[in-house]
Amino acid sequence: MRAESMPFSGGFRVASPYGLRTDPITGEENVWHGGIDLVSRAAEGGEGGAEVLAVFPGVVLRSRIVTDPADRTSEWGNYVSVLCDDGLTYYYCHLAGRLVSAGELVDASRPIGIEGSTGRSTGIHLHLEIRRPDGETLDPAGILGIENRAGFVFPPAPASDQAEPWRAEASGWSEEAVDWAVRVGILKGRGNGNYALKDPITREEMCVMMHRLLGVVS
Ligand SMILES: [Zn+2]
Repeated sequence: MRAESMPFSGGFRVASPYGLRTDPITGEENVWHGGIDLVSRAAEGGEGGAEVLAVFPGVVLRSRIVTDPADRTSEWGNYVSVLCDDGLTYYYCHLAGRLVSAGELVDASRPIGIEGSTGRSTGIHLHLEIRRPDGETLDPAGILGIENRAGFVFPPAPASDQAEPWRAEASGWSEEAVDWAVRVGILKGRGNGNYALKDPITREEMCVMMHRLLGVVS
């Protein structure tokens, strides 16, 4: 099942993947990490923690901070847990602040807290953990539809102007077709027969283009 919302509206980076990793505090290797660590673009840019959004609708089970170190959930600092219809519980941890209370119903993309660094944490981030009813954890990356890899950025950077130019002579398009495409803005001339293709091309533009090309070329 795919998440209905991303946990941050403004994008994020995977700081630490789900699974075995080197502990960021002790340096110990192959320590189990039951969730995924995400850093919002705002936090990355030094603007402080971003709003954390519910990725699925559900009911808030807990909204609290545990300070007794004997309780392992004290490592999560301020956290909010949301039980979803599919029986999975989503834990949003290390929050600087909580915006919902236990018993509240939340929709997907509802702000439930502010990203922070409370509990066992080395910097502002969200630890997102997903558990089945039997307590087993699931890979949050699979549910978010992202890569479970440190450094993965969502959304991916848009294709830049550095992309390979589109070469008119290598395309097989007639000169008239190229002229037409430039005139309507689908191609942007970059000199010496190099063109940048408009991105994104709508389905309608594509249809018109194909129609036009077939008409001109044949
Ligand atoms: Zn974590």
